[in-house]
Amino acid sequence: MASTVPSTATDDEPTEETALQTARRQLERAAAHLDVDPGVIERLRHPNQVHRVSVPLERDDGSTAVYTGYRAQHDSVRGPYKGGLRFHPGVTEAECIGLSMWMTWKCAVMDLPFGGGKGGIVVDPKDLSTDEKERLTRRFAEELRPFIGPTKDIPAPDMGTDAQTMAWFMDAYSMQEGETTPGVVTGKPPVVGGSEGRDTAPGRSVAIIAREAIDYLGWDIEDTTVAVQGFGSVGAPAARLLNDEGATVVAVSDVNGGIYDPDGLDTHDVPTHEEEPEAVMKYDAPRKLSNEELLELDVDVLIPAAVGNVLTAENARDVQADLIVEGANGPTTSAADELFEAREIPVVPDILANAGGVTVSYFEWLQDLNHRSWSLERVHDELETEMLRAWTAVRERVEEHDATWRDAAYMVALERVSEAHEHRGLWP
Ligand code: NAD
Repeated sequence: MASTVPSTATDDEPTEETALQTARRQLERAAAHLDVDPGVIERLRHPNQVHRVSVPLERDDGSTAVYTGYRAQHDSVRGPYKGGLRFHPGVTEAECIGLSMWMTWKCAVMDLPFGGGKGGIVVDPKDLSTDEKERLTRRFAEELRPFIGPTKDIPAPDMGTDAQTMAWFMDAYSMQEGETTPGVVTGKPPVVGGSEGRDTAPGRSVAIIAREAIDYLGWDIEDTTVAVQGFGSVGAPAARLLNDEGATVVAVSDVNGGIYDPDGLDTHDVPTHEEEPEAVMKYDAPRKLSNEELLELDVDVLIPAAVGNVLTAENARDVQADLIVEGANGPTTSAADELFEAREIPVVPDILANAGGVTVSYFEWLQDLNHRSWSLERVHDELETEMLRAWTAVRERVEEHDATWRDAAYMVALERVSEAHEHRGLWP
């Protein structure tokens, strides 16, 4: 298995180094702050397993195509593997491994009883009809069936897959197992065992963490200005919730550009990606700006919530925000991270800020195992509790070690994973 490969990262994850390189670098940085058995660190540099499967598909025209699928399972010391399945032409084995490591840390920083997994099929879903996508998903579920299950590995939606894909996947698995098994995947429609509140959960967690960070810095949220890049399932709920909390959201954007109002936008009125795709620029606002300009606005809080690698060595010196809360996965390159550290601009990392998604996936799994659904109010209350608990653990490491928020989050995660390894031991 190659440890370094040419970057094939998809457009929402780091490209300047591969996801696997980033994951290993973060592991080493966190380990340097902690007294952890080097043998455990060596084990964590490698995935437990990577499954590679061929997924044949009968196309609508009667021809046969064969696609390659992967499932990387990084570490299960704290519980079953958990992480997304993506359908994207850029999926590679190394990337699945790197992203599965990120999921190990994300689950551990939230103290969820899961380890990290990630997988997908090398396919452009735009080239498939709905029927073809359904057949491909069902066959993929069958190929992965020996390796997954509610107590082994629980996939979820990711790029190119959605709630419908998860419903097909669950149905195919259940038909073969001879019993309805909703707990095999999360992110399903609520009518087949999905959770209320799953769709807005990553944005909700970004808003909760931003609110706590604002408070920690001694600011009044009523006097705080916010800019949000990306107005999709992460950015839009984050912007709207911060708006509801009293913050002034002065700018939001989508792939076409952004809108700006120094007096604050009514974010509930701006159409989200789901309500009307790429319609932000159609909204009547005093000023339009580019995505590059949005990132450099003189605001208190910047939330990059669109794609990876938008804060780079090129623009980090021009960023005027006093706090960055990562909504997207990997929006800050490591070079930019160093510049922000030198400029003493706190960057609250993705593995904490957008972890509401995997946390409500955990709630979904609990509901499935217990055959009992929770109200939206309960989901919101429990998410708030879990986010505050994780925030406190990370904040304590920041204070104890005078560490960056990113290093502190990785320290919390690594401490939990490595302690579990030390207690369970290495079976010969
Ligand atoms: P989405 O498709 O719902 O929305 C993405 C938004 O970003 C849209 O408004 C789109 O127009 C905009 N956008 C796309 N490319 C852009 C670009 N180059 N510049 C500026 N804006 C651009 O996606 P999402 O689910 O909100 O995901 C956003 C990010 O958050 C991704 O990095 C994703 O991996 C991460 N994330 C998503 C979830 C989740 O459950 N949805 C959970 C955790 C992290």
